[in-house]
Amino acid sequence: MNMSLLVVGSMAFDAIETPFGSTDKIIGGAASYICLSSSVLHPDINLVAVVGGDFPTDFVDTLRQRGVRTEGLQVLQDRKSFFWKGRYHMDMNTRDTLATELNVLGDFDPIIPDSYQDSRYVMLGNLSPKVQSTVIERLKNKPELVVMDTMNFWMETAMDDLRHTLTLADVLTINDEEARQLSGEYSLVKAARKIRAMGPKTLVIKKGEHGALLFHEDEIFFCPALPLEDVFDPTGAGDTFAGGFIGYLAAQGRKDFDAFRQAIVHGSALASFCVEKFGTERIAEISAEDLQQRIRLFQQLSSF
Ligand code: AMP
Repeated sequence: MNMSLLVVGSMAFDAIETPFGSTDKIIGGAASYICLSSSVLHPDINLVAVVGGDFPTDFVDTLRQRGVRTEGLQVLQDRKSFFWKGRYHMDMNTRDTLATELNVLGDFDPIIPDSYQDSRYVMLGNLSPKVQSTVIERLKNKPELVVMDTMNFWMETAMDDLRHTLTLADVLTINDEEARQLSGEYSLVKAARKIRAMGPKTLVIKKGEHGALLFHEDEIFFCPALPLEDVFDPTGAGDTFAGGFIGYLAAQGRKDFDAFRQAIVHGSALASFCVEKFGTERIAEISAEDLQQRIRLFQQLSSF
């Protein structure tokens, strides 16, 4: 069976401030991180995204070399790419958004080329929930598995669209703060119950340096994050996690609890690389062998 993975999400310029330094405009965006991460495990990816004429073509070439098809990438020559600016606090688990300039993302009308139509796995990366649902509605064949990510920005600006998109997702990945915001519950167990009643049967709550929780049927699984000596920039860790999570599932062609547990470990391991350098630099260097070595560290860390 064709196990192509369709990825939609933002492709962006980011400006980042952390206690260890700051960057001018560097490449970011959910789809950029997801594609770099998934392609370590499953280099059979159909990208749907939009950028302006200012977006570097060599980054798009890098994605192509890693097995990402770009027929569904729209390049609007006379417009500007999405721009996001964020500042991290000392603990690096919390950040403030300083600027969100939607630019080409503001009126993005996603195109699904015919060659993408048989994608069996779909990753709805962070961008407007309206675009996320449009992508699902434009697929002629129902996918095997739809994983969705979102963030507080969309809860604050597009909650009705977000509610609808949640009904189309099998799995939602969000961070703990967003889970609390979405559900109105402090307890993550209660939050999980409420969020799963909104649509996604399976929920992953990311807790940054404190690992990730998986809620599936009546089971809960916890995966730690690797204690790292240096964390330079957490930007994209959530997207990298999501890319590893769905990349593993698409590569295996499975969606049972055991596969979800393995997928969480793969996502966490890839995210642990992402934070070691600024932007996409580190995740772009990682090979399948690097990943396997790190997964062995996760095993040692948590088996008893
Ligand atoms: P993460 O750190 O995994 O939550 O994701 C960081 C990435 O999300 C950055 O590279 C941003 O470009 C992107 N991003 C930030 N805000 C938004 C938004 N409102 N919609 C889509 N992508 C966003």
